[in-house]
Amino acid sequence: MHGLMMNYPLTLAQILAHAHRIHGDKQVHTLLPDGRVHRYSYAVLYGRVKRLANVLTGFGIRPGDRVATYAANTYQHLELYYAIPCIGAVLHPLNVRLAPTQLAEIVREAEDRLIFVDGAFAAQFAALQQHIDCPHTVIFNGASKMPVGAPLTRYEALISQADDTYAWEIQDENWAMGLCYTSGTSGEPRGVLYTHRSMFLHTLAVNQADAFGLTEADVVLPLVPMYHAMGWGLPYACMFVGADIVLPGAKPARERLVPPLCGGDNPLANLIAETGVTVAAGVPTVWAQAYPELRKRAQDISSLRQLIVGGEAMPPTLIEAYEKELGVEVRHAWGMTEMSPTGTLSTLRRAHQQLSDTEKWKVKAMQGRPVPGVEIRLATESGAELPWDGNTMGEVQVRSHWTARRYYKIEPTAEHFTTDGWLRTGDIATINAEGYMQIVDRAKTLIRSGGESISSVALEAALMKHPQVVEAAVIGVPDEKWGERPLAIIVLTQQADEGTPAALKQHLASEFPKFWIPDRFVFVDEIPKTSVGKSDKRAILAFL
Ligand code: AMP
Repeated sequence: MHGLMMNYPLTLAQILAHAHRIHGDKQVHTLLPDGRVHRYSYAVLYGRVKRLANVLTGFGIRPGDRVATYAANTYQHLELYYAIPCIGAVLHPLNVRLAPTQLAEIVREAEDRLIFVDGAFAAQFAALQQHIDCPHTVIFNGASKMPVGAPLTRYEALISQADDTYAWEIQDENWAMGLCYTSGTSGEPRGVLYTHRSMFLHTLAVNQADAFGLTEADVVLPLVPMYHAMGWGLPYACMFVGADIVLPGAKPARERLVPPLCGGDNPLANLIAETGVTVAAGVPTVWAQAYPELRKRAQDISSLRQLIVGGEAMPPTLIEAYEKELGVEVRHAWGMTEMSPTGTLSTLRRAHQQLSDTEKWKVKAMQGRPVPGVEIRLATESGAELPWDGNTMGEVQVRSHWTARRYYKIEPTAEHFTTDGWLRTGDIATINAEGYMQIVDRAKTLIRSGGESISSVALEAALMKHPQVVEAAVIGVPDEKWGERPLAIIVLTQQADEGTPAALKQHLASEFPKFWIPDRFVFVDEIPKTSVGKSDKRAILAFL
């Protein structure tokens, strides 16, 4: 017998409407390129989102069309986060850190019909524009250097001329709402196509008290870019609970932030003090870099109560530094673009309260337990399930209502999905009897640097195209600042000379972003191999 409860589509338009009706006075603060802070209320945002919806339809955008953004975290980007999906189109945030040739491939596959460009990135967008064929470009936060090429329209002019009435009418909760590209397991770009339902449920899940635990009283600073795995879902999670949002703009803006009230010379501390940030989210590299500054700040940052950290493992020493020295609770999360992205989170159990501080930080440095709604298991290469004993290592497989069941335009393969429909994460972990997962290795051939993936396979293939390279292996080596950095081991046709590393770097520069280029090149006579003839990266690491 079916139950008798209401059943209507879960859509992002409901999050927007709730935010407007219940929290209309809450604020969105954005750091502008000139260093000033722009502020407006959810109510103003709501009106602008409706106008933007009319702008989109005016461009001929129809349900299902992909609309890209090439932008930092700003109020305009937040408006796009709602307007695009709420008219039934697909929000496609582009990672501005990727090289133009990489992005061109992604834009081509996504068939983006319109791109919204942040003026802070206008110059670098010009380089991308030569490689893409997108009918329309709209720019906001105008810059001195404007891209040339495709027709260009100014955002504010469009908004001011648009009608401010719009009726949202998504009928199908399984309709696509967003598209984010990730590096897959070996570096080839793969699109993850989220639905209204998956993002709605992810929003509810992360807002649980033991997850991000945001409330109406919070002021949230997402330092994680909105082009990274839907900004970890924060644009939706914050507005659903009615938290103020602080959007940090592009990096140069942060550096220019004039200390209007707080009198210090520390941009991040200024922003926290100026807006009263209570929760801030970003990758460990950001927090490692910020720590010395935050520690010696002149400003009062006592409003900051919690960090949400993920994308890479958060070292226990850094957790200790934030918790002990700054009195800020660290919530360490693990996830993937494929998981919207939240999977697990390391909050303490009641039973942990009696542990020493050092032991507590060790628990927090694990990737944690699944957020309710996420299922995890450990499996061998052949798929046999492994015990949760805190010692046995296996691949993490996951299932949830906000995890991808396949990639965009790619048939599911056994490499990524099991026959019973779980996602193979490519992460190797142990899980203890309390359900805490600890990532110990990666089966996938990706290097994680500053919270971004670098494909060793793609770098190796490019290096092999160089006429003097016979063989190349690229491995990730631990790095204090970035987590990992790529190092290339090369067999050459001839003796290396002083200029060889620079020549190889230049060879890679045309295809890859700067942060992908290996810092070090080691020239050897032979690369150690595994029994199946692959480069033995563990042996190489030991040998170094
Ligand atoms: P992405 O889809 O780019 O967010 O990358 C997801 C991958 O980042 C995961 O499969 C992990 O390899 C890694 N990752 C994310 N969060 C963590 C974490 N807290 N600790 C260790 N690795 C992480």
